[in-house]
Amino acid sequence: RFITFEGIDGAGKSTQIAATIDWVHSHAYEVVQSREPGGTPLGEQLRELLLHESMHLETEALLMFAARREHLAQLIEPALKRGTWVVCDRFSDATFAYQSGGRGLPAEKFSELEAWVHPGLQPDLTFLFDLPPEIAAQRLVSGRAHADRFELEQRDFFERVRNAYLLRAEQSGGRIVVINSARRPELVCADVLAHLEERFA
Ligand code: C5P
Repeated sequence: RFITFEGIDGAGKSTQIAATIDWVHSHAYEVVQSREPGGTPLGEQLRELLLHESMHLETEALLMFAARREHLAQLIEPALKRGTWVVCDRFSDATFAYQSGGRGLPAEKFSELEAWVHPGLQPDLTFLFDLPPEIAAQRLVSGRAHADRFELEQRDFFERVRNAYLLRAEQSGGRIVVINSARRPELVCADVLAHLEERFA
């Protein structure tokens, strides 16, 4: 199984990823945890560049897919092939949300890249942690010492990212489950576990 976690910065993915890993372990399945951009040595180097260097918009988008190609080949596909679950912090939906919704690049380009880089492969389930950008921003300010360059974006940028995520969820045919993440983490977690039980137990 391939499960991904999405949402704007400050949506609270990390806590829910940890709970999901515990759930998978408690059902006696093997699981690897990964993230995008990143997940492989080359992918992590690309992540460093993406997070800290400014670059042309298309360069950013193509590096996201370059890191993803490597991630699929080195980690995701081999794990799924041997029956290991993959729990991943962000995947292609993030590119539609950030590079298209947020930065304004055409979504059609990403549909083409997606069809090229991972034809026929989508997560089995994606959690989209949805909340107003104002609340997410407050959480980031109180929880972390240093913001990366993406976290310093303007509020309207995150509003566009959020809307692109919601549109993607609508078009996903049920693959992307929208979770109201403006609530206390325990309540969000109960929702996540209920979905895992319903789909996979
Ligand atoms: O989720 P995480 O905090 O690891 O993401 C790192 C940064 O990269 C975030 O600030 C996120 O907004 C940004 N990002 C992006 N486009 C993607 C994936 C992540 O701008 N496709």
